[in-house]
Amino acid sequence: MATEQMEKGIVWGISKDLQADIRFEPNACKLYVMDISLGCPMQCVYCLFSPLELMVYKLQNPGYKGDILPLKLDKFLQREEFPPVVYLCYSSDPLGNGELTASTLRVLEKLFANDVHVLLLSKGPMAPEFIDMVRRRPDLMEIQVGVTNFDTERNKIIEPGAPSYEARMENMRVLGAIEGLRSLVVRLDPMFPGIDDTDENITRIMNDASERGVKRAVLSYLVLPQSMKSKLRQDEFLRDAVDAVSEITPTISQQELYSFPFEEKIAKFSHFERLCSERGIQMSVCGCKEHRFKETNFGWTCFPFFSREKREELSRNFKIKLDTSHLKCHDFTLE
Ligand code: SF4
Repeated sequence: MATEQMEKGIVWGISKDLQADIRFEPNACKLYVMDISLGCPMQCVYCLFSPLELMVYKLQNPGYKGDILPLKLDKFLQREEFPPVVYLCYSSDPLGNGELTASTLRVLEKLFANDVHVLLLSKGPMAPEFIDMVRRRPDLMEIQVGVTNFDTERNKIIEPGAPSYEARMENMRVLGAIEGLRSLVVRLDPMFPGIDDTDENITRIMNDASERGVKRAVLSYLVLPQSMKSKLRQDEFLRDAVDAVSEITPTISQQELYSFPFEEKIAKFSHFERLCSERGIQMSVCGCKEHRFKETNFGWTCFPFFSREKREELSRNFKIKLDTSHLKCHDFTLE
C-alpha cells in the first residue's frame, strides 16, 4: 500500500471534501499521518506544510479565505483497518485550539480501541480532557512537546499562535507525571542559527525539561526552500539566521532545501549533546531532515521515534505494514 501511494508522487493531505483520515506520507519518515485541521492556529513562520495545504485547497476552492477549518471525522470513524502507528499531525497541531482538541480526543478514542500507537507532537495548550485521555492508554502514547526557545519576544515573532514557554513547560510537568507513558520528548525544531542555538537557551530548556521528568530531546536546524528564505529574510530579526541557512541539505523529501552547513551542525550538536547528557537527557537529531546524520554516531530519530526492530515488531500484527527501507544502522531506540 505504501509503495503504491508513493509511486503516485506527492500525496496532498487535505482532500476536497475536508475529511480527516489516515494517509501514508513519504516525507514524514515514511509514516502514516493524520491531520485534524486545514491550516494551523500556531502560524509558525517556518512551517513548510500547513501553508502548502492551504495553497492547494485555495486553488481547488477559489472562494476560500484562509480560515482554519477543523476536518470532518465521518470517514475516519468508519475506518476498519489501521496501521500500527499514526503520527498526529503532519500539517497542523492536534491541540491547536479547543475545537481541534475535541476532534483529537475522538480520534484518540478510536485509535486506542484498535491498539494503534500514537506519535503526537504539539506546542499546544493541553486541556485536562486531553491529559485524562492520555492516562487511559499511556502505553500507546509517544509525545513530543515542541519548545525551541524560552524568549517571549522570539516566540511572538516565530511562533505567534503558540502558547508561552511557561505553558509548554507546564505541559511537560503534567505529562512527566503520567505513569507508564511510553515516551516524553522535548523537541527543539527548528532551531534558527544564532537565535536558538545558544548555550544559554539550550541549558535553560534542558534544565527546565529535566526538572519535569523529561529524559529525551530531539534537536534539529531550520530547513527552508529558497522562496521562504527570500520571504523570511525581509524580517530584520530573522535575517542573519536565514542567511546562515546557506547549504543545500539532503533530506527525505529530495527537494532543494537549505540548512545550516553540515560541519557547523556537527560541531554544535556535539557540544549540545554534552549539555544534554550533563542534565540526564539523551539527545538525538533528525535523520530525515539531514540524511548525513545517518552516517554519524549521533542518535537519530525518524518521526516514528522507533528503531527498525520496533517498526518491524509493530507491523507483525497489522494488515498495513510500516516501511523500514530508509532506516539504517544508527537507529535511536527509546526503550
Ligand atoms: S505547529 Fe506545526 S503545523 Fe502548526 S504552524 Fe507550527 S510547524 Fe506548522
